[in-house]
Amino acid sequence: MRYIEEYRKPEFQKKIIQYIQKSVNLLKDKINLMEVCGTHTMVIGRYGIRKLMPERINLLSGPGCPVCVTPTSYIDIAIELSKRDDVIITTFGDMMKVPGSYSSLEKERANGGKIIVIYSPYDALEISKKYFDKNIIFLSVGFETTIPSIAQTIKIAKRDGVKNFFILSGNKLIPPALEFLLKEKSSKIDGFICPGHVSVIIGEEPYRFISEKFNIPCVISGFEPFDVLYSIYLILQAIIRKQPKVINEYKRAVKKSGNKKAREIIYEVFDVCDSEWRGIGVIENSGLKLKDKYKEFDVGIKFNIEMKNKEGNKGCLCGKILKGEKTPFDCPLFGKKCNPENPVGPCMVSSEGTCAAYYKYERK
Ligand code: SF4
Repeated sequence: MRYIEEYRKPEFQKKIIQYIQKSVNLLKDKINLMEVCGTHTMVIGRYGIRKLMPERINLLSGPGCPVCVTPTSYIDIAIELSKRDDVIITTFGDMMKVPGSYSSLEKERANGGKIIVIYSPYDALEISKKYFDKNIIFLSVGFETTIPSIAQTIKIAKRDGVKNFFILSGNKLIPPALEFLLKEKSSKIDGFICPGHVSVIIGEEPYRFISEKFNIPCVISGFEPFDVLYSIYLILQAIIRKQPKVINEYKRAVKKSGNKKAREIIYEVFDVCDSEWRGIGVIENSGLKLKDKYKEFDVGIKFNIEMKNKEGNKGCLCGKILKGEKTPFDCPLFGKKCNPENPVGPCMVSSEGTCAAYYKYERK
């Protein structure tokens, strides 16, 4: 198919659903497929894809929502910094409601905290030029998709000799998280639907270990409902034929080798480090820290801050949901004490969070 309209034709959707239903009869057991990324979770919810699945296919949601995996300690540090007279915090809007251990950025802004919502890291750099007597801190969260623009902004800051722009790095990498889930075996995953936008940057190669080491298939998927349905069909075929491999369903956007230039920019500015994922714990080599050459932009060094692991919010099952061990329906707070107006955990805050998707589209 060449044009996006073709992905939306009802006859194609119906056909692929029939193919899935036929394929399922060839499966021996029930299977668990994990959609890694929050955008896919929303597509699955919005278009009722979960309800269309035969009983033997269980769709689990994974850890691919950057806001959901940002640790409590990160939010607490941002809040503390926002109380300083010499600081302005800049952040993407979906971080505002994320609960820390005692407050959120939104509540702190209402109490006078200096927090500005921006749309790109470059906006933060522009603000630093306007408020040259303040320290402008950008809350740097996101996966491989957003990291190149952050790295590029830091390069520009260095080039321009900006002295009052800093980042609080909470960026994370997707492949180490997938390896962690497969090693942990707490949820039995039979196949991954991999994030198309992350894959635009990293390409196919970083997923190779999934089939070679763990013997399961994964499909890089686009974001039309047809993409998701077709990806499920492709995973089923790979399982039935016992041919675990990396399949690229999203070839119209994802090149086999990804975007080399974007990766060069990332690794010119950042080094890989261990990183804490909210509710999951520390995952080896899953985060990024500034290289020595760019350390002057590290807020941790500027204000001598150390991030300490903290418990998540009491009663919240986000960690288990992000690992595919539970669904939002298992959480006693879901839709009661925890809802989009009053979120208890990050999975209810983010527009791409699993609990928010279930609340909006799948509530019984
Ligand atoms: Fe956490 Fe709320 Fe989801 Fe429960 S419903 S897991 S409290 S975000």
